[in-house]
Amino acid sequence: MILAYGTNQHSWRVSDSGPDIESSMVAKHLGVDIGVQGRNLIKPREAKMIGSARAYAHTIMGCTRWGLDRSLTASKLWECCAVPQFLYGTEAMVISKTTVKELEKIQHTVASFILQLPLSASQVMGWMDAGLKPIRMRLNERSILFAHCLVANKKDNLSKAVAQATLSDRTDPWTKRIMSIQTELGITDLTQVTRANLKRRIMSSQIAKLRVIKQSHSSLKWLWEPEKWFKLNPQTNDSEECAALNQFRAGDAGLGNRRPNHLGLSYKQCPWCRAHGVSSKLDEQHVLLDCPGTGFTRFSTGVKAFQDARLAMMSKEQIMKEYLGGMDPV
Ligand SMILES: [Zn+2]
Repeated sequence: MILAYGTNQHSWRVSDSGPDIESSMVAKHLGVDIGVQGRNLIKPREAKMIGSARAYAHTIMGCTRWGLDRSLTASKLWECCAVPQFLYGTEAMVISKTTVKELEKIQHTVASFILQLPLSASQVMGWMDAGLKPIRMRLNERSILFAHCLVANKKDNLSKAVAQATLSDRTDPWTKRIMSIQTELGITDLTQVTRANLKRRIMSSQIAKLRVIKQSHSSLKWLWEPEKWFKLNPQTNDSEECAALNQFRAGDAGLGNRRPNHLGLSYKQCPWCRAHGVSSKLDEQHVLLDCPGTGFTRFSTGVKAFQDARLAMMSKEQIMKEYLGGMDPV
């Protein structure tokens, strides 16, 4: 199905021998009914997307501790059941910014559940550590691969010709979307790239974008990049240790420096040190590596031995990253 906008033409002739293509008021794309006339052709579908994404998120988060690992189960259910369902057919649509934002919020609740993070943790944690690709990126990827499939598919000349006609109409919203994705990927002609090459370009553009976003979050300075992008971090499970690790990686361990802690208290300076007349900035690095208040625990759990062995070779910030599971990206 091709969505054509802003044209008074109601039928198209592809070749003299080929059939005429008639315009229609309602079309079915991959089983989804779409009104082809008017501006709000996919509004109802967008509302449904949000509703079903939310329902999935609630069901997934209703998983109990008895049984399978909740983190792994939630991640699999979201990727294999929820996402394919609510993004069904979206490759041929232009989804509004508001809907994308709403879906991203719902995805973040699932990511926070998987990683056992508070909702205040950065969305970047979900994209990187839980491996849940940002919704906008999922949509773009689907659309551009779909467009590529239409124009580069050598066997089906008819849909190829119609797709080319739609893509040459620069006023069409879907065409505009495809063009802007192409510009981002540095592709001028879709027919000149292979599907494998297109996928590689999409991947590297997505990673580059996330790197930039991560840089802008000072709370994520101890977060190493994932070994494999858009996959659940292999060390993740639903244990308490993993919750603590992830909260430290996210720079959101509930110390009271970013938001009130479990006692409802907020601090800029470490309260333990302040009680001893020393002023120290309160953050995860201070608690883990520096604060005398946690000295005994640091000693008894081997953190101190780890730190002493590394201190001659690297900065405390690097030790912190390494301790939280970082490694040099190869
Ligand atoms: Zn302290």
